[in-house]
Amino acid sequence: MTRFDRLDICEAHYLLELEWNSSGWLQERPSNTRRMEATHVQLERIHFKPALNLGWEELSDNARNIYLDAAISFGLIKSSTDLCFECGEWKDSQGCACEGDEE
Ligand SMILES: [Zn+2]
Repeated sequence: MTRFDRLDICEAHYLLELEWNSSGWLQERPSNTRRMEATHVQLERIHFKPALNLGWEELSDNARNIYLDAAISFGLIKSSTDLCFECGEWKDSQGCACEGDEE
């Protein structure tokens, strides 16, 4: 479940492109291919300025869920459990290395 939060949406989509882009833009995002324009260009136009160190750790839980929902709809991942909710990295059958570190 996600709730509408403009900052969370912007941060989630900015980070998606940062991590999944090829040649600098996210080609799996339909509104990017339709406009032939990168996510970050569209975000700039609405005056979104990401924090310099923006990464998974900085995302709120809501932003993380927005990111995961979008990653599924763009076909980047199959399930929201493919990525670790704590660190955003791929999980394998054992789970995620970061979870082991905390115990
Ligand atoms: Zn992890």
